[in-house]
Amino acid sequence: MATQRFDVAIMGGGIMGSATAYQLLDLDPTLSVGVIEPDSTYQFASALRASGGCRVQFSGPENIEMSKYGIDFIRSFAAPVDWVQGGYLFIVPPESVANLERNVRTQQSHGCRVDLLTPAELKAKWPSMRVEDLGAGAHTPEDGWCDPNGLLWGLRRKAVERGARYVEDRVVAADCDSVKVRSVALQRGDRVEARVFVNATGAWAGDVAKYFGMHLPVSPLRRFEHYFTPGTPMERLPYVKDVARMAFRSEGAGFSGGLVDGDEPRGYNFDVDHDYFERVVWPAAAHRFPPLEAARCHRTWSGLYEVNELDGNPVIGPWTGGLRNLFTVAGFSGHGMMHAPAAGRGIAELVVRGRYETIDLTRLGYARITANEPYPEQGIL
Ligand SMILES: Cc1cc2nc3c(=O)[nH]c(=O)nc-3n(C[C@H](O)[C@H](O)[C@H](O)COP(=O)(O)OP(=O)(O)OC[C@H]3O[C@@H](n4cnc5c(N)ncnc54)[C@H](O)[C@@H]3O)c2cc1C
Repeated sequence: MATQRFDVAIMGGGIMGSATAYQLLDLDPTLSVGVIEPDSTYQFASALRASGGCRVQFSGPENIEMSKYGIDFIRSFAAPVDWVQGGYLFIVPPESVANLERNVRTQQSHGCRVDLLTPAELKAKWPSMRVEDLGAGAHTPEDGWCDPNGLLWGLRRKAVERGARYVEDRVVAADCDSVKVRSVALQRGDRVEARVFVNATGAWAGDVAKYFGMHLPVSPLRRFEHYFTPGTPMERLPYVKDVARMAFRSEGAGFSGGLVDGDEPRGYNFDVDHDYFERVVWPAAAHRFPPLEAARCHRTWSGLYEVNELDGNPVIGPWTGGLRNLFTVAGFSGHGMMHAPAAGRGIAELVVRGRYETIDLTRLGYARITANEPYPEQGIL
């Protein structure tokens, strides 16, 4: 049994863990950073099953700022990430227009380009869309999507170039005293000691937190992604989202997306329900875009959202009131790819400089979990 020592040990080497390693070494190249990741094929990692969307359409200032940072980062990243500036479009019924307008004003006050569109304007831009039951839409033309695989591997390679060491193993236990974590035990028998530990294990983060005696209300939620083609030719679409959590965008000759069922039982379930598209997604998509009446689903895959059951927003930062050297960057509830560069930056700043410098993420800290004070998004998730 060997003991490995690092300044910072990151648990989970998916997109969040790799972004954190990259940002730590960007701020302080002298740090020794270990990333503990059991699976270098990332078979079940959410990152490789994600749809790649990046948008500033949030209500929370922290989420808007993390998106702005993430989009700039992805667009200028020196690795192949296939950025497509296809835009996002949120569409809402009349009763949700006031909320949409409020969110648009918040986004505009953060310097984002957002165009509020009437149903007639929506119809003029996207003629296939049924708009009679809509109240308005918000279009962010500078949003888009990228290849999550390219982003994950780009971050991992660059973190390694900067000196990060990936340890192919799984954290299975922790050794803690009353104020801090001393070491973690790995499945193959080794131990890792570090000054700082970071829980970046995505959908597994709630269970990993238990090794430290920490309550982290993050659970795995299965979500399907589908690739489908329209039966009848129609225009290309931005990433369209509605209040029922239908979300899809153009991809090649067809579309990629799905419809999140928030009531899905929690668990590490990757089974694919091949009827889900026909039963749930297709009726909603064909209602909104009648040419999709003849849509054909070619592929369905499943992946896990890492849902923060308190409020659907991430937990970023130290374990306030608990072990002082245990940090968390998890619970992004389906928005983690776009927010990984900024969240990793935030953790790096806290560890290296002792404070946030780029974006103040204090309100997304663990304190709200202890206080049971949700800080949710208002509007479309
Ligand atoms: C279908 C789908 C579509 C999505 N679409 C989008 C989108 O359009 N835009 C967006 O921003 N986000 C999207 N997401 C969400 C995004 O994929 C996640 O938020 C993001 O990948 C979270 O990154 P992560 O590194 O925390 O988790 P992961 O990528 O899952 O990585 C976690 C890692 O932790 C490792 N691990 C687990 N247990 C342990 C342990 N005990 N010890 C050490 N390591 C461990 C795992 O092997 C894994 O590699 C989507 C997700 C899904 C499923």
